[in-house]
Formats: sequence, structure tokens, C-alpha cells
Amino acid sequence: MSAYCSSRFSTIRRHSREVLIGDLGVGAKNPIRIQSMTTTNTQDVDATVKQAIALAEAGCEFVRITAPNKTAARALKDIHSQFRAAGFDTPLVADIHFLPSAAMEAVEHVEKVRINPGNYADNKKFAIREYTDDQYNEELQRLYDGFSPLVLRSKELGRAMRIGTNHGSLSDRIMNRYGDTPLGMVESALEFLRIAESHSYREIILSMKASNPKVMIEAYRLLVDRVNDEDMFYPLHLGVTEAGDGEDGRIKSAIGIGSLLMDGLGDTIRVSLTEDPVFEIPVAQALAQKVMASWSELDQDPVEPDSIDPYHFQRRSIATFDLAASKSVGVEAPPTVITRTPFELSQYEALETVLAKANPKLKDTPIEGLCIEVRSIGDLRHIETLWKRIGDKVAFLVLEIPQNIDLESLSAALPHSKLPLALLRDFEADAFNPYKRFLRICFDFDAIPIVGLTPNVSDGICSEPADNLIVTLNSQVQATAPDHRIGSYRQLAERLNHWRNPSPLWIRNLDTDDSKAPSFLNRLLDASILSGSLLCDGLGDLISIETDRDLTRATKLAYNVLQGAGARISKTEFVACPSCGRTLFDLQSTTQRIREKTGHLKGVKIAIMGCIVNGPGEMADADFGYVGGAPAKINLYVGKDCVQYNIPQAEADQHLVDLIKEHGKWVDPEPVEA
Ligand code: SF4
Repeated sequence: MSAYCSSRFSTIRRHSREVLIGDLGVGAKNPIRIQSMTTTNTQDVDATVKQAIALAEAGCEFVRITAPNKTAARALKDIHSQFRAAGFDTPLVADIHFLPSAAMEAVEHVEKVRINPGNYADNKKFAIREYTDDQYNEELQRLYDGFSPLVLRSKELGRAMRIGTNHGSLSDRIMNRYGDTPLGMVESALEFLRIAESHSYREIILSMKASNPKVMIEAYRLLVDRVNDEDMFYPLHLGVTEAGDGEDGRIKSAIGIGSLLMDGLGDTIRVSLTEDPVFEIPVAQALAQKVMASWSELDQDPVEPDSIDPYHFQRRSIATFDLAASKSVGVEAPPTVITRTPFELSQYEALETVLAKANPKLKDTPIEGLCIEVRSIGDLRHIETLWKRIGDKVAFLVLEIPQNIDLESLSAALPHSKLPLALLRDFEADAFNPYKRFLRICFDFDAIPIVGLTPNVSDGICSEPADNLIVTLNSQVQATAPDHRIGSYRQLAERLNHWRNPSPLWIRNLDTDDSKAPSFLNRLLDASILSGSLLCDGLGDLISIETDRDLTRATKLAYNVLQGAGARISKTEFVACPSCGRTLFDLQSTTQRIREKTGHLKGVKIAIMGCIVNGPGEMADADFGYVGGAPAKINLYVGKDCVQYNIPQAEADQHLVDLIKEHGKWVDPEPVEA
């Protein structure tokens, strides 16, 4: 099932041909290249050159610049020469939508042109909804005639090209035949790729971006499966579109880009943030470095492929049971958040104070399971007192029982009062007797058993399903296997599935031996890559971020990763384009303002897009859209339908709020406590 990559358990880089952009190679043995895009008006040559220099100085290896029309495309000539005169040899890339004339001009001046197969030489009218085969072929001929001149000129000038498909921005032809699906995205690129190949032009890079990481991951996997079948080894450009800003933008990008990179796919990346594009560079560099450190020399996977269908999301089938009075696990329940505390069991007063402070900040993202390591058997005498002090602040307790506490002592020391308890213990794969003894103890004390296992068990404990059992990865494995913990969890899930063991899986984000006090960005990226990849594969029913000792931060990060992966919605979802030279208003301040007004609307998806050229198509499945219609004028959307045109920007925020109210999705924000 995993024809898209050589291994889902190690990072074996996909074989690709080298494409030169100017003198810089992408794909093959080259490192992962970092790129970004200017947000200035392209016709403002000075401002664009200045921003291109700032990006190059920050480490951006290609700078993309929008060319929304022929005049802007002409300005690329001056931008290019001034940028070179300033001493920068970073290749420049023109970003084209709709206009072949702009592409034909741009290709004269820059090293690479990006076209969007959803709109290049195509109008979106929906005049015909069902194409006959003849009509479809006529369309392809029209495409051939429209696209060939750019291919031939690119070939003549030695320029590279990106065929960059975006979800939500597909041609009528593709939409009618394949829908707005990953398959439609792939077919859309293949139409153009075949034309380019018919001219023996192969300096091509491919991309399949979407704002939803799950859609994006599936589209890239499908693309690779298809092009590999046809021996087309073009490099891949990875990105999540409209990821937004701040922590959420970084998380979504890391989930989409990171999980593909960890499967060996991807040769150049852009982390699109609704911020100054210079801020994108360190995030992209950190992502690339993490993955390049994981590249394996293997060219063949020693492990059997797993049975997950990588092209269609489906959550793993698991047992349903209660963790506490109001908290259960199961396919219908969103993943549970567990927060680990660095406090000891005896420190209940301090813990009570910390939780009392944290809880108001965690109103919509509560601590559900609180995990505490039992450091000595004597600690257990404090459990009842601890629960009395904090039982109203968390749903249940997870006690981590280290190996130096033997099971007999554990049994003797646990309290007999009924508390919502889970007990976590690591086991070797074949430690049947201790495992059974542990289950018996949990059963006697009405506690949920959680076992940490090694990933590669072919038999052993996975073959012995037990009621209400939760499974996670052995903490030693996690500490010593930083290179591909995604693969370790996949292997564990595969063994559970093999033995029809429906135990829910707990994804633990733990420090590794080489973590060495990682920065917040690194913790965020690590958690997003590991948890996000697994969640997008339908794996993971409990999640904890244990790399941050701050309870509030760790809990929020867990919820944000769940939201980024679309696994649990705990707040308003914002989809915001990164802005470019087409942008008609200040995206950063507008996004902030709208976030302040609507950030309490849990589950509502709001898109803030800089222009009507691409905005409506690319905001995909948003409930409401706020889109630049003309300078200082906003168009408002409900779903894909534009319902208000050209609202003066000063009034548009209120109109958006009114629209949300009209559609019954508004609730008043709770008053802020003094
Ligand atoms: S939607 Fe945003 S990033 Fe995309 S073209 Fe329009 S302004 Fe540029």
C-alpha cells in the first residue's frame, strides 16, 4: 500500500532527478532547499528588491515574486538586475496565475516560473458540468496550444518551471471529472506534465498544496505513486497553503511538510506564514535540518510495509471505554489530552496552586489526564490527598510506575478507594507473566492499564488484547530513537492491528537523548511532526507533549497540534493566505483584528484572503471568507458563495460578525474576569 515511499519506518529519500534553477540544484543529492515569497507590490521595484535581499540574507535559497499581469512581469527584469547588482545570486522565481502573457514575459527575466495548472489558460465559468470525452479532448488540445509556447521558451532559455497545483483551485474540466480531490489535483498536474514531456522538457518541479494538511499529504503521496509508475522522477516542492500565522501556522506547516519529508519526499520547502516572510526561513531551516539528520543510507526497507491505506484517511478502529466519569476513548471520541507534571505526588499543595492558575487559561483546552511519575513506593500514600486537592481540576490521573517499583509493592501500596486512575508501565514484548500480573492489579483497583511496548514485537503482548487497555511506545525506545519515532509508532500500530488488538494508542512526545533543552520552536516542530503525521494516518487516541515542563504551554500545544491535524477542534480555525504582491489589504493586522473579534467561536472556520484572484478558490472548506475584492474593498463569502461585494474595509469586520450571527454560528464571548 505504500508505493509512494521506500519506507514508512525510516527516512529513505525518494530518488529524483536534479533540476537546476539558475546554478542551484534541486532534488537528487542536493540538500532540501528553502524558499519563500515576497509580499511587496511587484511593480514597486525598490521595495521588492529590498525584501528579496532580506530573504536571501536570512537564508532563503530561491525568492518567488508574484507577476499578476504583464506589467508586473516586465518589472521582474529590473528587480533581477538590481538584485544581482546588489551582489545576490539567489535565483528568482515568477509566480503566475491565469495569464500566459505574464508567464511569457516573466520567463525572459527570472530563473524559474511557477504556473498553477488550475488556472493557467483556463477560465473558471462552470458553463459545462459534464464533459463528453470529445469535449474533454478538445479542452486538452486547447491546453496544449496555450501551454506549449511557455514550455518551448523555457527550454530554449534553460529556465526551470514549477507545476504547482493548489487544492480548491482546479480547472472546471478537472473539477467536473474528478472533483476537488487529491486525485483531481494530481490529474491536473499530469495534464501539464505530459505536454511538457511531449516537448522533451524536463526541468520541472511539482507541488500539490492545500491548507488542510491531511489533503495535502494525500495529494503528494498519490502524485508520487502516479509519477513513479511512469518513471517521472521530478523533484517535489512542499508547502501547506494559507497555514496562517503564529503557533498555528507553524504547526500546520510542520504537520504537512514534516510528515512528507520524514517519508523521504520533498526537495524544496516553503513554510507559508501570514507574517513577514523573513520569519518563514528559520522555521523552514529547522524542519529541513531535522529531516536531513534522519536521512537513512538504506535503499531498501527491511521492514514489511504496513497495511494503512496512505491515500484515504481513516481513523484506526479501536475499543470504546471510559477513562473517567465524563471522558472516554473510542473512534467517535476526539483524542484525549494528557499533561505530564514535573511535580511529585507529595507536592499536592504546589500542584493545586499551579493548576488553579493554569485552568482559567485552559478553559477551552482543559487538562484531561494528569500524568505523574511515581518516584518511590512511599509516594503512593499521597494519592488520596492529592485527588482531594486537585480532583475538581482534572478528569483522571495517570501514574507512571518505573521499573524499580516491583508489582507486589505496587499492589500493596495502591489505595482501595475508587479514583479515576490509569497506571502506566513499560514491558518487554515477551514479559507475559509480569504483564498479566499488572493487568490483574489494575483490575483489582479499577484502574486503566497502560503499557509501553517496543515497536517491533511480532508476537508477545500485542497478541494478548485486554479490556480497557491503552498501548504506547516503551519510553526507552522513545528516548533512544529520535530518528524515526513515527515509524516506531506505525510498527506498533501494525502489530496491534495484526493481532486484532483494538487498544487505543497514546502518542507520547518525549525528550530524546539528544534533545538538549530544545527551544520552543523545536519542541513545537517535533510534536507537530510526530503527532501530526500519525494523526493524519488515523493513528493516535491520546496525546501528550512531555517536552515542556510548563503545564499550560504543553497542554495548549497538544490541543493546537490536534487542531492542526484536524483531529480535535477546540477553537476558531483561521485560514489566512501568506500575502503576496496581489494582496489588497494589510493581512497581518487584519488577521489579528478578526482573530480578536471571532477567536472564541469554537469550530467556526474563517478564511482571510488577500485577493479574489486566488483567495476564493484556495480558502477551500472555510465557513466564512473575508477576501480583498478591490483596493480598500472587501468581499464576504459564506462557504464558496460571495454574498457581499465591495464593502468598505472599515465596515467589513462588523459585516463579517453580522454574517456569522445571521448564520447562527455566533456566541457572545464570555466576560473577561477582572
Ligand atoms: S490569495 Fe493571498 S497569497 Fe494568494 S494570490 Fe491572493 S493575495 Fe496572494
